[in-house]
Amino acid sequence: RPLVELNNVGKVYPNGTVAVQNATLTVGEGEFLCFVGPSGCGKSTIFNMIAGLTAPTEGHMTVLGTTPKEARKHNEIAFVFQDHTLLPWSKLIDNVTLPLSLRGVPKKERIEEGERVLELVGLKDYTRVLPRQLSGGMKMRVSIARALISRPKLLLMDEPFGALDEITRQTLQNELLGIWEREKSMTVLFITHNVFEAVYLSSRVVVMTPRPGKIDEIIPVRAPFP
Ligand code: ADP
Ligand code: ADP
Repeated sequence: RPLVELNNVGKVYPNGTVAVQNATLTVGEGEFLCFVGPSGCGKSTIFNMIAGLTAPTEGHMTVLGTTPKEARKHNEIAFVFQDHTLLPWSKLIDNVTLPLSLRGVPKKERIEEGERVLELVGLKDYTRVLPRQLSGGMKMRVSIARALISRPKLLLMDEPFGALDEITRQTLQNELLGIWEREKSMTVLFITHNVFEAVYLSSRVVVMTPRPGKIDEIIPVRAPFP
């Protein structure tokens, strides 16, 4: 069954802005799909609709076999943004386990899971460190760890590496691909401005055109890197 399905989805904001039109798209379980397109073409709006944060004004969509809002309640969708909002006075272990604290998961289990995800992103020796002691790339790793802690079925990444230097970005791209390969059934949807990044990361790239913000075509590409 498709993990995400959009059928002629449209979004007109209350102020009249047409953000998305006629978006039709099917994403299978375990796919890594990139969305490319200029600013304002509706990429974030599509993500927000998939995450159940805003409703489409036209068309029909399902996420994880149900409505996006319903899917969100099951903690199976996680978000990573460019500007990681880490708590500056909390150690990394507390930052990454925050979603579990909010859900009342007992401390012992939280710590175990926190150590698991920090190890996944190569930060197992940094559990007691504060965010301000970290570089931008390491902070991004913490954000990814925090997203992974709930073992999401769907990971939405909105230009996560946009602010990183080229070398750090390439390192993180490869780490992300490694994590995705290991987590088998996790589906990743990834927004980027960078066409090279899109082609490198995914085998299917969704190209969105600027006005009036619709999915124009889906170009299957073969990733040129291993
Ligand atoms: P992208 O992520 O591709 O930059 P967005 O989805 O953020 O595009 O925005 C698509 C269009 O919708 C833009 O014209 C933007 O200004 C507009 N938009 C985004 N959010 C809102 C909102 N909450 N209210 C009104 N217009 C919005
Ligand atoms: P060539 O050997 O043909 O020059 P490169 O590997 O140097 O190929 O890459 C060609 C272009 O793709 C360069 O502009 C480079 O910056 C870009 N590029 C290569 N790898 C990545 C990557 N992982 N992410 C983003 N851009 C990349």
